[in-house]
Amino acid sequence: MIILVVNTGSSSLKYQLIDMKDESVLAKGLCERIGIDGHMNYKTDEGMVFDKDIALPDHGVAMQLVIDALTDKEHGVISDMDEIGAVGHRIVQGGYLFDKSEIITDEVEAGIEELCTLGPLHNPPALVGIRACKKVLPNTPGAVVFDTTFHRTMPDECKYYAIPWEYAEKYHVQRYGAHGTSHRYVAQRCAELMGKNPEDLNIITCHLGNGSSITAVKGGKCYDTSMGLTPLEGLVMGTRCGSIDPTVVSFIYEQTGMPVKEITDMMTKKSGLLAVSEISADCRDICDAADKGNRKAQIAREMLLRSVKRFIGAYAAELGHVDAMVFTAGIGENDIDLREKVCDYLGFMGVTIDKEKNDCRGQEVDITGEGSKVRVFIIPTNEELMIAKDTQALVESM
Ligand code: AMP
Repeated sequence: MIILVVNTGSSSLKYQLIDMKDESVLAKGLCERIGIDGHMNYKTDEGMVFDKDIALPDHGVAMQLVIDALTDKEHGVISDMDEIGAVGHRIVQGGYLFDKSEIITDEVEAGIEELCTLGPLHNPPALVGIRACKKVLPNTPGAVVFDTTFHRTMPDECKYYAIPWEYAEKYHVQRYGAHGTSHRYVAQRCAELMGKNPEDLNIITCHLGNGSSITAVKGGKCYDTSMGLTPLEGLVMGTRCGSIDPTVVSFIYEQTGMPVKEITDMMTKKSGLLAVSEISADCRDICDAADKGNRKAQIAREMLLRSVKRFIGAYAAELGHVDAMVFTAGIGENDIDLREKVCDYLGFMGVTIDKEKNDCRGQEVDITGEGSKVRVFIIPTNEELMIAKDTQALVESM
């Protein structure tokens, strides 16, 4: 089956066409600046076919142009849109309504709509994407894969905040987590690489990118994760502050009169590594500046290391026993120094890594050191493949 994976943002639409026969990517690309002016690229095996400004007044037009590119006589990878067996959509917030991926029905769409309060930035454009797709591919089944469903298995003591129950009961204030599709993919892949059943393993998965989260995976299921009601909780990130004393918000409000929405914006978009380093949200820029002796960049780097170590340490304690750790996403896959420093620190848990094997970027590698009590892997994440696999399984069982 050939699956089109779609990830819709407010002004963008990322797509990937995957042939499930061998899990190969036939084509992929991005439509950007939708509703503004428009830019689109399209890549196949042969490399970039086009990367150009093109009018994209809405997501419907973008979707049609994606299909046109995929079926183009000269550069297309399929001859007819009917070759697309199903469409899989990435949805950020599945909230309290969805515990698993689903075939799109009117009821599922209504659920995603209900959850717009919890995912105000992501769920509305995802719905636009679903509807645009239905228009262009009316006879093709569609599925939705949520970033949060992997975390629905958290026990109550991890899922809920220690605040009065009425906020959870009336307003659904609880921890939903994020990056679930990535954590699920790398945890499954880690078990495959170890030749073990996921049910027999405790794995700590570290998705470290511009947004970062760490998950304790117990027996193949999420036991705890660092992000909470929103992706602001947890580690220090590119522009997000991560976990802080919540009274910082009321204190800043009382001192400055800044509206709460602006404080949340500040903590989401203007904090984290960017704020501390005063240089950049990008780890590479921070490392360069830190190496040259910039003190604020050094503090930003240390804060990132500290938060990664703290969550791994906390989850090791919660799990009681750790079989493996996985590094993934932009920083996890590429930051050799961070992996080495974190793993050296975890020596007290019996972690050692092979420094030569660790000297690589963006590859799937077992970097476990000799005699290590915990296996350590770099596994490039592949959320699109996970979405395609779920979509195929759902469509085949229809
Ligand atoms: P992601 O959000 O997964 O795309 O990750 C993006 C982040 O990965 C960037 O902001 C960088 O901080 C980080 N990154 C990418 N390449 C490297 C590298 N070679 N060394 C350190 N960090 C990197």
